[in-house]
Amino acid sequence: MGGMHLDETAYVRIVPADAAGDVRWGLEPLVAMVDRAARAVRRQFPDTITSVGHLSREGGGEVERHRSHESGRDADIGFYARSANGRQLFASHFVPFRANGAAAGWPGAYFDDAKNWALIAAMLNDSEARVTHVFVAAPLRARLLAYAERSGVPVPLRVRAAEVMQQPRGALPHDDHFHVRIACPAHMGGCVENPMLRPRSPAPLHPMVAAGRRGPAPYGPGVFPLRRSPPPPLAPAHSPGNSHPNESRDETGAPPASIVAPVDDADG
Ligand SMILES: [Zn+2]
Repeated sequence: MGGMHLDETAYVRIVPADAAGDVRWGLEPLVAMVDRAARAVRRQFPDTITSVGHLSREGGGEVERHRSHESGRDADIGFYARSANGRQLFASHFVPFRANGAAAGWPGAYFDDAKNWALIAAMLNDSEARVTHVFVAAPLRARLLAYAERSGVPVPLRVRAAEVMQQPRGALPHDDHFHVRIACPAHMGGCVENPMLRPRSPAPLHPMVAAGRRGPAPYGPGVFPLRRSPPPPLAPAHSPGNSHPNESRDETGAPPASIVAPVDDADG
């Protein structure tokens, strides 16, 4: 609910292999964060373009090849690649990189430590969204943390990056892109932070929610070149106590992320 579209810009490109199906919708904090982070990297490294893959489908729900990406809080972002002389390189799909920074399937391309770290730092410092997970292969995580240390990045940011960047369990190692997940926005009462840990009985609805009060549109006018989805159609209510998307807006008008999604991502 309240989905926002991530558009291509001078500084955001959609990876051609992931362009079909327009899987580029997300909660406003996620979409705006990706936009802000891409601009931040470009400010630091002029002419840089950020490669984005899948977010979520319009309205959410299942996305092929993913176990998450269902509730608008997940985004796949390609690694920045460079040539030996530092020029940015682009591929038509995500390309795996090895611990030494080279890519077996892409001769002459190297993992760009500086830009990839800049993206991580920008997302962790985002003014609105709070990143809870960045899935990335362990050797690349180690490269980024080593780069940050060499570069004199303050310890608190490096500690936070070390906590957030993880190689996922039970999924592909993510050696060809970052999978980024943000926390439930503070105002989204129905959002389930980690569905894998969800208690058996749902929390009671807020009285205002139970009364079916509707709030204003979830978000104000956007400042970025982003499109909004129309409000979702009303659907029949589920059993009492079930947090249905159309019944569980709280008095602030915030949409819940009631579509549960595991954190792990199987897309690789
Ligand atoms: Zn993903």
